[in-house]
Amino acid sequence: MTERGLLIVLSGPSGVGKGTVRKELFDTKDNEFEYSISMTTRDKRKGEMEGKDYFFRTREEFENLIEKDGLLEYAEYVGNYYGTPLQYVNETLDKGKDVFLEIEVQGALKVREKMPEGIFIFLAPPNLDELKSRIVNRGTDEKEIIEKRMKKAKEEMKLIRFYDYVVENDTVENAAEKIRHIIESEHLKVSRNIKTYAKFIEEME
Ligand code: 5GP
Repeated sequence: MTERGLLIVLSGPSGVGKGTVRKELFDTKDNEFEYSISMTTRDKRKGEMEGKDYFFRTREEFENLIEKDGLLEYAEYVGNYYGTPLQYVNETLDKGKDVFLEIEVQGALKVREKMPEGIFIFLAPPNLDELKSRIVNRGTDEKEIIEKRMKKAKEEMKLIRFYDYVVENDTVENAAEKIRHIIESEHLKVSRNIKTYAKFIEEME
């Protein structure tokens, strides 16, 4: 029987650069792991492609899928739904391949409840000034909105305790490299290789 693949979840506070690190991981090298394309009700941005960046759906279609238990998790983020289609994740893991999710923190916690065997990686800002400047540079500079976003980021930072690994996003390349190392190390755990070596030992007798 094929060993089930690993579920790798990359998450972290808004504005930390999750999407950029994920793109670095998938655009620059061939990976052994597969990206799970999320579903969303938000509008397609310039350059985005259906079935590559997201599956773009109406609220009605999305809610239908929620009712059918078709999502591993979903969350509402800035007025839109985002979710992880369950079938793809299960089928890919069953084939023995690793699946990579890049999702916001509420969704990651839901995945942790359902699949605690996953590997949960928290992408953290290198320091407070950097986080502040990223939040300030996100479009509007209305004081009230910036304060709201900082408060949200603080709440999201507190959730770090539910994760297995923390990766500082100092540079995108460094962060991506560390994530690759985490995945490699996870594959080297004795618990994941014990069957192979049990057989080896048996053959030695
Ligand atoms: P954006 O609209 O900028 O592509 O994504 C907004 C946020 O939604 C990001 O923090 C991204 O990580 C998160 N996100 C993308 N896909 C999913 C998903 O399937 N589930 C959840 N919970 N969050 C997602």
